[in-house]
Amino acid sequence: MPVAAVKDQPGVQSQAKFVPGPILLLGAPGAGKGTQARLLMDAWRVPQISTGDLLRELRKDPEKSASPLGVEIRQLMDSGRLVTDELVQAMVAERLSAADTRNGYVLDGFPRTLAQSEWLDAELARVGGVVPVVAVTISVGYTELLRRLTGRRNCPLCGRIYNVYSQPPKQDSVCDVDGTALVQRPDDSEDVVSQRLKTYETLTAPVIAHYRQSGRFAEVNGELPVDAVTRAVADAIVRLRS
Ligand code: AMP
Repeated sequence: MPVAAVKDQPGVQSQAKFVPGPILLLGAPGAGKGTQARLLMDAWRVPQISTGDLLRELRKDPEKSASPLGVEIRQLMDSGRLVTDELVQAMVAERLSAADTRNGYVLDGFPRTLAQSEWLDAELARVGGVVPVVAVTISVGYTELLRRLTGRRNCPLCGRIYNVYSQPPKQDSVCDVDGTALVQRPDDSEDVVSQRLKTYETLTAPVIAHYRQSGRFAEVNGELPVDAVTRAVADAIVRLRS
């Protein structure tokens, strides 16, 4: 979706001095947090911080991934379980200290437990940010989440993402761009997906209640077309900031 669609919204375009501040995108795996976070990042020039991406980066480092901690992380991720709060909190603390987060950032995939949300509240109070955190949850039904996650395939060469049900490649299992055989993320297999959704229900759903109570919270329908979801998320953030 063109980023212009976000910028063209009355509520967004008129905000010449709009300071996005800390934004949390909440929702189940497959809800579209990553897609929406990237679109907001482009529109508002703030970084997207995905703890899943940070962990996958860490796994690519041969030395770190061979260490006992690296092996533990791989086992937890590949079985659909969460890595420890301490580890992700340390990663997030380090990332939030970078200069590019000054005007805000979009956190995607964090916090995922109540302990992480309490840690984040304390951390933000400690550093004394310009504006308070706002949280938007993207809601998608269980059947649709299953379809999105188990159907997801990506090209290991160019990174393009497909979905065998809703956005298949022109030729079966092969990337349209470079002809490379598509792969499935190890944690997108059917049994791991159901564990990830279980983990979400038990550990992450309470995080939504936590932010709902804060009052700086909105919920959007994640089953609408991507650009409609982007508009709803951007509108909600601007409204929560006004
Ligand atoms: P994601 O790409 O956000 O679905 O994350 C992939 C995997 O990384 C998750 O299934 C967890 O194993 C791990 N992970 C990502 N973010 C967190 C977090 N905030 N806390 C614990 N584990 C996480």
